[in-house]
Amino acid sequence: MADKSGDSTTHFGYRQVTEGEKAQRVAQVFDSVASRYDLMNDLMSAGLHRLWKAFTVRQADVRPGMKVLDVAGGTGDLARAFAKRAGPQGRVVLTDINGAMLREGRDRLLDRGLMLPLVQCDAERLPFASGTFDVVSVAFGLRNMTHKDAALAEMRRVTRPGGKVMVLEFSRIWQPLAPVYDAYSFNVLPWLGKKIAGDSDSYRYLAESIRVHPSQEELARLMEQAGLESVQWFNLTAGVCALHVGRKI
Ligand code: SAM
Repeated sequence: MADKSGDSTTHFGYRQVTEGEKAQRVAQVFDSVASRYDLMNDLMSAGLHRLWKAFTVRQADVRPGMKVLDVAGGTGDLARAFAKRAGPQGRVVLTDINGAMLREGRDRLLDRGLMLPLVQCDAERLPFASGTFDVVSVAFGLRNMTHKDAALAEMRRVTRPGGKVMVLEFSRIWQPLAPVYDAYSFNVLPWLGKKIAGDSDSYRYLAESIRVHPSQEELARLMEQAGLESVQWFNLTAGVCALHVGRKI
């Protein structure tokens, strides 16, 4: 889609904005919440995000010596867990487009005695050679990307043949729970955001961005269109989020 000036437009939550504006606004969101990001995750999800990530790590089945890329990895939860499993012979790279989020990630990793390679880059243009990684993951990042097809294609490109691409993301909740979930998302989340991170708008964006993100079936199709095969998904907490896994053959 394009606006009157001919610039391509996209969603920023429920609003239609130019692609350039979306990138700027997403950057503002994560600049604003970076220092309170981990605390907010625990509060908003009542700690559930830890279980969702633990499930992702189990499915990733990272073994000693493996090479893993965590895209849009923010404060580094997944990268840290992967690094434990890949061990000293392995290599885990944490990337994010946002410097403030990566700095938080670096500090948290260092606090735990881990020094991983960190790369500030756009998921839509990954600065890695094709076929480098055994596992490539993105958790709660794809929703914020302007060209999800390009990001998925890049994730596939840098995966080695036989490797897997994993997408953990908010998804479509089981319909009977939707009214309660909507009430929580549009009332409690912005309120919590205001109290804890001094920013209600970013958490209203979170609630909106989840609603305009592709459903489980649509995301599976996008992954297949990006060239991934044997795509399957696991609904977590009645579809609050889903883990999609695809193979590069
Ligand atoms: N993966 C972490 C986690 O699960 O806690 C962080 C998720 S956070 C909700 C989303 C992250 O996506 C932010 O750190 C943001 O900077 C990053 N991001 C957004 N657009 C991106 C892009 N185009 N390329 C890389 N990272 C991006």
